[in-house]
Amino acid sequence: MDAFADTMAAVHNCARPVRLAGSSATVDARTGEVLSTFRSADAPLGVLYRPCGNRRAHICPACSRTYARDTFALISAGVAGGKRVPEQVADNPLLFATFTAPSFGLVHGHRGGKPCRPRRRDDRTRCPHGRPQWCTAVHEPGDARSGAPLCPECYDTASAVMWQWHAPELWRRTTIALRRAVAGHLEVMESALGERASIQYAKVAEYQDRGLVHFHALIRLDGPGGAGIGAPAPAALDGPTLAALVREAAPGVTVLAEAIDDEDSPRVLAWGVQIDVRVVTPAHRSDDPTAALTPGQVAGYLAKYATKDVSGLHGEGQHRPHVAAFRAACEHLADRAARHHGEEHDYQRMGKWVHMLGFRGHFGTKSRRYSVTLGALRRARARWQAMAAESRRTGEPIDTRDLERRLLADDEDETTVVVGSWTYLGTGWRDAAEEALALAAAARAREYDQWRADRRDGHDKGTGISGATTSTR
Ligand SMILES: [Zn+2]
Ligand SMILES: [Zn+2]
Ligand SMILES: [Zn+2]
Repeated sequence: MDAFADTMAAVHNCARPVRLAGSSATVDARTGEVLSTFRSADAPLGVLYRPCGNRRAHICPACSRTYARDTFALISAGVAGGKRVPEQVADNPLLFATFTAPSFGLVHGHRGGKPCRPRRRDDRTRCPHGRPQWCTAVHEPGDARSGAPLCPECYDTASAVMWQWHAPELWRRTTIALRRAVAGHLEVMESALGERASIQYAKVAEYQDRGLVHFHALIRLDGPGGAGIGAPAPAALDGPTLAALVREAAPGVTVLAEAIDDEDSPRVLAWGVQIDVRVVTPAHRSDDPTAALTPGQVAGYLAKYATKDVSGLHGEGQHRPHVAAFRAACEHLADRAARHHGEEHDYQRMGKWVHMLGFRGHFGTKSRRYSVTLGALRRARARWQAMAAESRRTGEPIDTRDLERRLLADDEDETTVVVGSWTYLGTGWRDAAEEALALAAAARAREYDQWRADRRDGHDKGTGISGATTSTR
């Protein structure tokens, strides 16, 4: 039992740890001296367990929380500085924008306690299939009908799938359009924009009840050198002006989607009409919902979205026929495209993304110079654990001077290398009871974090990752 408890603690209550057998040695890169060795046979259970690192909360609650914390740290470093990003980054214009999918037909939805689609009695029309185009029900969040079309036959599922397939390209073109708009405002050639400014962003995709993704994006305007380095962001472009440029540029961005086959037509795809752009200010926190967002809030939102995925659409064992229909349409279009275009075509690959409802983009993406990377944060954690283990072994204290710089240093600055030989044995605990214990421990850890955060203050409540929020203050 002790061996199991130690192992569980070492993988931070991961639900499906990876089991490895083998050994490794830590070597001084300059002298070649072997500093320490490790063999899995010496591990508490005789096998090395490593956390699975999965981002999705329903697969591994513990690792998903680590991912959310890292995402939070990454996002907030780009908003308020920290993790080697200069604090001056907070002075640069910053937006929080949500890009939605357009409507492909009337759907049910929860409207904050109000009726779904009320119509006056004399205004109640039916679709050509005889189905009502109104709904007086009040849907609660999580209602299986939320996001379902009022008429599945009227709803343009094929176009919805095509939109989802092309959404990453739509986003790419939006970033290009924004660059062009910023260059225009600063009256420089687009090719010379880099000498005056640079635009950095971080974004996450979130599935809506309809099965379509929204993009939530942080968009930051930096000076030519990047965040807080060299010249500041151009004074001619403040937050509200940048927001106006996004609102102007985004609606005009389109992608022309080729037809699936001869039975189909090409489509012009664009964003939905609701493009919400808000300025983020580092100013004081406020309970006024119309006030500008604060860095802690946006980092919390993005970190929360980053751990969600398509599984959230199914709720707790819930059957949602419209999500199944979306998936079926995706599969059907992939088949048609395969028959018509053959192996080479882009649409051919749609079949591989049916489980994601045709969305093939990454959940979280960021531009190169937005802030620190997830990889650097993971490396820092591994280095910290190695330091702590070394300190326990030798009794030497951990030197905290300049610690963050050393933890986040690039690999080139690394003075030790780890060489090893490992064999993959499998994934998961030895039996269901062990997995249940790990899940229970993860839930307890989460409750404890929550309790600690609630005691501190009501800061960022509702983001679900309050354990990490102190890093912004
Ligand atoms: Zn895990
Ligand atoms: Zn309804
Ligand atoms: Zn209809």
